[in-house]
Amino acid sequence: MRLYLAVFALLAAVHCEELFNGDQVLRIHAESEDHIQALKELEEDVDSGLDFWAHGFSTERPVDIRVPHTSLNAVKDFLWENNVPFTVMINNVQELLDREKAEMFNNEDMERKTKSFNFAAYHDLETIYAFMDTLVASHPNLISKVNIGSSYENRPMYALKFSTGGVSRPAIWVDAGIHAREWVTQASAVWIANKIASDYGVDPSVTSLLGQMDIYLMIVTNPDGYAFTRSSNRMWRKTRSVNVGSSCRGVDPNRNWDAGFGGPGASKDPCSESYHGPSANSEVEVKNVVDLIKGHANFKSFISIHSYSQLLMYPYGYTCTDIPDQSELHAVGTAAIKELTSLYNTRYQVGSICKIIYPASGGSIDWTYNIGIKYSFAFELRDTGLYGFLLPANQIIPTAEETWLGLKNIMGYVRDHPY
Ligand SMILES: [Zn+2]
Repeated sequence: MRLYLAVFALLAAVHCEELFNGDQVLRIHAESEDHIQALKELEEDVDSGLDFWAHGFSTERPVDIRVPHTSLNAVKDFLWENNVPFTVMINNVQELLDREKAEMFNNEDMERKTKSFNFAAYHDLETIYAFMDTLVASHPNLISKVNIGSSYENRPMYALKFSTGGVSRPAIWVDAGIHAREWVTQASAVWIANKIASDYGVDPSVTSLLGQMDIYLMIVTNPDGYAFTRSSNRMWRKTRSVNVGSSCRGVDPNRNWDAGFGGPGASKDPCSESYHGPSANSEVEVKNVVDLIKGHANFKSFISIHSYSQLLMYPYGYTCTDIPDQSELHAVGTAAIKELTSLYNTRYQVGSICKIIYPASGGSIDWTYNIGIKYSFAFELRDTGLYGFLLPANQIIPTAEETWLGLKNIMGYVRDHPY
């Protein structure tokens, strides 16, 4: 193991890969308005290179921040001076990354030898796309691959369409990986694609669902960002578009939808992780999904999968005003989480984005809800911060299994409550 780690450090250096040696993730517990003010000051200090793993602050929920080792002392001093309580969640980010990389390397070796696909591993974009082709080829009467357009860097964007026939059937959309670094979401979506394929004709609820509705599943919604997390910077979240007049690249694709665009919980600074972009739908990855959804015009449910925090949320994010369907969506979410939790006792909270975390404008499910897709939800998968975005691969399958129970529950409800 030690030798592996040394080899990976060397490989990383050769590939100009960003390293995070000595970076820590601090968990900050704001207990007062003063503490929140201190957090805002930290956020505005762009030079210290802080990477907020949550955007928006409250006294209800801790905030995790990756602090580069060069800023660690200054940040800790600042927190102590302002009496802001914090704990160290991850002691050395690079250590986790090295372990993750060694596991991927071993797995690729194993997959080559056994010529099999390991669902309990993280894969690169090419391997995920190859997996999709294999799945389509082995279920040609159920699954097709829909090319919805190309990314900024010209990578194809594929949704898997599960359909047993019919024309413009009512449909359910599920996407993962719109935020590149949320790796457990793409990996879970791979497992779920395979699960839907193998459960059709076996699990009566999947069979009856697909007898009436289609499912669209987009495993990698931000392919450029995902490729970049593999090649250059594991912590990348945004798209990879060039921002005119700035040396910082990328837009937060979940602040770029045409719903409360540019409002609270989004940044106008191109260097921010929550930069909303120059205009709504400026990101071609967002625009491609918007065009597909509008062109189809018969989606009944839109579910977007993120990590981490263990939450199931419904609109709105851009305002804390209740949606007209608040009580129904809350009940649907609560029932789904009951199913999800029943498997491994993973605890979730249910609520509107704004109330359960913080205001966040320009999000996908606010847009889909406003155009009339009532059953709009967003998941935040495991964990609650022990590993954050760096969830070990041995949690992929349990995460996917429990998430599928929650998803299936929502889908069954949608099937039984057409509108
Ligand atoms: Zn996300």
